[in-house]
Amino acid sequence: MNPKILIIGACGQIGSELTYKLRALYGDKNVIASDISYSNLDIVNSGIFEIVDAQDYAAVKVCVEKHHINTVYLMAAILSATGEKYPMKAWDLNMNSLFHVLNLAKAKFIKKVFWPSSIAVYGPTTPKENTPQFTVMEPSTVYGITKQVGERWCQYYHEKYAVDVRSLRYPGIISWKTMPGGGTTDYAVEIYHKAITDKKYECFLKEDTKLPMMFMDDAIKATVDIMQAEEKDIKIRSSYNLAAISFTPKEIAESIKKHIPGFNMTYKPDYRQNIADSWPKSIDDAFARKDWNWNHEFSLQDITKEMLSQLRIKYNGLLKESN
Ligand code: NAD
Repeated sequence: MNPKILIIGACGQIGSELTYKLRALYGDKNVIASDISYSNLDIVNSGIFEIVDAQDYAAVKVCVEKHHINTVYLMAAILSATGEKYPMKAWDLNMNSLFHVLNLAKAKFIKKVFWPSSIAVYGPTTPKENTPQFTVMEPSTVYGITKQVGERWCQYYHEKYAVDVRSLRYPGIISWKTMPGGGTTDYAVEIYHKAITDKKYECFLKEDTKLPMMFMDDAIKATVDIMQAEEKDIKIRSSYNLAAISFTPKEIAESIKKHIPGFNMTYKPDYRQNIADSWPKSIDDAFARKDWNWNHEFSLQDITKEMLSQLRIKYNGLLKESN
């Protein structure tokens, strides 16, 4: 099957980079980007773009039919920190959008679905180190609840209706192209921006808060790999644990200091500390590595080097534009 792809939530942190990657792989005319607003002009202007509200079943269906879509990547969601501010909005968006896409697949309008879950499916009662694929899951955030329930529905639609839905539990994702959209791991992106612009950063988590993280290139690679894998090799239809590295705010600050010796980090934990404290510190992703050969590439040192060099170019360009 030649993929004809719709990305829902394509203007966001992950959706945008996924759009570039899938267009490079399958051609511009085979990858339709969509979002609820024109919030990322680079994406809007870089190929076919549609305004689609993921909560509007008819609008998603019209777009699918108009472009003869067979594969949907559903990236629209309200993330962990924003979800705690707007619990019902998070529940409505995260659940309705998933049901719409799963129902389109059940009705055979589309053949294949990618839907991301998160390490937020885990909660305070989950073993924190090397968290296994199958373990206690009692999420304490609305976001985590939507992801856990979503996983159950993905597995249910696969078993009852043979829907080919594939999913990954992303850790915190670090990237330089698009800013993150309201998650608890956002500090690990903001810190690089502030290191370049201000040489200092006030972190909203405590210095020893260890969380699982991943560079965007690895997250995109995992997404492409699981979607390209043979159907028979996808043995888990809830969502796969996925891991790369784990580090604390103190460790990321130290890796930045190797490049910017005067960098100063201070700590002022806020409501996001409680969310971070409920999540795993490290993840066992042996099933992903075994079933479809998942492998990460970027260490913390690699990420710091790449983030600082890309952001230096970006901010130099902005300074030139404003002169
Ligand atoms: P993001 O907040 O950066 O982007 C979400 C996009 O969805 C935005 O462009 C937004 O405009 C769009 N959107 C919101 N409401 C919409 C609607 N009604 N219809 C259509 N589009 C709508 O999020 P992200 O970081 O790119 O995350 C993508 C997915 O990955 C989400 O499911 C998220 O839960 C998951 N995830 C992300 C991370 C991370 O660290 N970024 C970690 C774990 C899981």
